[in-house]
Amino acid sequence: MASLVIHGGAGTIPRASFTPESYQAARQGLADALKAGWKILSSGGLALDAVEAAVIALENHPSFNAGHGAVLNAAGDHELDAAIMDGRYRNAGAIASARTIRNPIRAARRVMEASDCVLLAGAGADAFAREQGLDIVDQAYFTTDLRREHWKRADEERRGLLNRERSEAEKHGTVGAVACDDLGNLAAATSTGGYTYKRAGRVGDTPVIGAGTYAANGVVAVSCTGLGEYFIRRGTAHDIAARIRYCGETLDTATAAAIAELSADKCGAGLIAVDARGAIAMPHNTEGMYRGAVTADGQISVGIYAVDFSPFDA
Ligand code: ASP
Repeated sequence: MASLVIHGGAGTIPRASFTPESYQAARQGLADALKAGWKILSSGGLALDAVEAAVIALENHPSFNAGHGAVLNAAGDHELDAAIMDGRYRNAGAIASARTIRNPIRAARRVMEASDCVLLAGAGADAFAREQGLDIVDQAYFTTDLRREHWKRADEERRGLLNRERSEAEKHGTVGAVACDDLGNLAAATSTGGYTYKRAGRVGDTPVIGAGTYAANGVVAVSCTGLGEYFIRRGTAHDIAARIRYCGETLDTATAAAIAELSADKCGAGLIAVDARGAIAMPHNTEGMYRGAVTADGQISVGIYAVDFSPFDA
């Protein structure tokens, strides 16, 4: 049974941080990403193509911390991480700290299919993307006014000049997609700008296969969001696969256990997962998680909080 789930990051997302327009724009962005992926899945396409299409749509949307709209690091630059995994062959590709690739997830896929590497970082990743003919952009393409403001507040906080808490929504976020296609193939894709004001060169869990991204046919596909250092140390995405594969746990039990461990670490965490039967899970221990899913009948649902996850018809 085909299914598709996406996320746009988890955290404390204050309702007050939204205008009616920005709230609607985020819901629309989630729905559009689901439509892009579902168009492929519903016409018998591959899970791999569906997750790539959904993540490209989210990277192009300014509401989410990936591609256009990504956060700025401490140096005021964008360094982007992304990964994709094809559960059919456990093939994977990822890029880290890339600076000029318009759609990082496309580059991750090229690493998987057109190189002998799994993870390419920094200038090497940018050069590879250029060689592959992918769209190359200036850093300014990724920057929005809102992200500039977030950077400014983080800088004020570091200098002891900020007299209020920064919300998690302005600190971090990530986008991701997992899918099961009609043939039961699984795939996962994740893309992020990481954390606002992160140290230059810092790489999170997103491009670390088995930490923030993982897919294996017959088992599960997972994409994570939250402070990456915790997911790397716990090997979260692979841990969920191991629980299902070796312990026979259900998708719900395995994903809930992973979130419980991250809660014990006091890490605000969320993830999306789909198993080999097309069952889905979207657990998170945070107040909100931008998320959306399509059920087999093609019904799209999106939401940010527990109360607003609802069908989206437009
Ligand atoms: N996992 C991402 C990172 O640590 C951030 C997030 O998902 O909010 O880079």
